[in-house]
Amino acid sequence: MTIVFRRVLWSSILLDPRRSFERVSLPIEARFDPLTGRVCIISELRFSLPAKTDFSEIAKATEMFCPFCPARVETATPMFPEEFIPNGRIRIGEAVVVPNLMPYSQYSAVTVICQKHFVKMTEFTQKVLADAFLASQEYLKRVALHDRSQKHFLINWNFMPPSGGSIIHPHLQPVSYEEPMGYYARQLEDSKKFHENHGYNFWEHLVEEEKRLGERYLGATGAIHWITAFAPRSYLFEVIAVFPKKTSILELEQSDIENFANGLVRILNYMDTQNISSFNLTLQSGPLNEHHYRVNASIIPRFTLPPLGTSDTASLRALNDLSVCYKKPETTCNELKQYF
Ligand SMILES: [Zn+2]
Repeated sequence: MTIVFRRVLWSSILLDPRRSFERVSLPIEARFDPLTGRVCIISELRFSLPAKTDFSEIAKATEMFCPFCPARVETATPMFPEEFIPNGRIRIGEAVVVPNLMPYSQYSAVTVICQKHFVKMTEFTQKVLADAFLASQEYLKRVALHDRSQKHFLINWNFMPPSGGSIIHPHLQPVSYEEPMGYYARQLEDSKKFHENHGYNFWEHLVEEEKRLGERYLGATGAIHWITAFAPRSYLFEVIAVFPKKTSILELEQSDIENFANGLVRILNYMDTQNISSFNLTLQSGPLNEHHYRVNASIIPRFTLPPLGTSDTASLRALNDLSVCYKKPETTCNELKQYF
């Protein structure tokens, strides 16, 4: 075995006021991401959210000004220059791709997913999601044709305000970079090192190992494999999707995107049962023909905690780049597996 799921177990001894100051030992686990070594502290609290956040009031209040609603999308959103994208926007089904007014790079867009302003977690269909990812892929294909220096692509989704979403109307954010950026750059570099050291692809091997261990492997939708991350980047869980044999979003077939959307609908349905109403998603793509990498995606829930509206991102995560998780990935896998 060349993938190492490294964990260190500790216990914290204290005299607990809830048990007449009885001496108790609280177990804590540090887990190291098998690719990058990034650390997640697991402190099991059997944590669950007490209720769903109701966004219907804020949805009603924002609908009449929303630039992504069908009545305004033609007049209130920007257009791409004619020499880049003829007709100024890309449309597939209900999805519309427009330039991002607050760009994150030279090539930064927004994909309005559907015509409906407020969509609840369980209302997304495979067809609507697949069209939105296909439209985002089409945009990135045009970027790659227009500017050959562009090789690194992300498609992100911030769903609802706790995730950083500033517009209720559901939208994706495809973005392109000339060189790898952020945590993706670390994953790409470490995938290359893994390939050099062991002679095979980390991502393909991860799927095989997780299948063999059976503790975090959720299942497959077509060719796409789904796993709960060993060292999650959220208080509750992180789900990873791996696209075998594909290194770039540019080479995904329609069936790959439909299968991805299929898995996503299952995860959204599960999150709804856990009272989760907001999430972040990233779909990451390496350059074409970089055989040490695979297209992959990550999804994490986002929320605020009652009664104070406490954020789910504190100093350890925001400044120390140290994740904290209150639920074991294996527990989430057992629950979520039933949806696959
Ligand atoms: Zn809208």
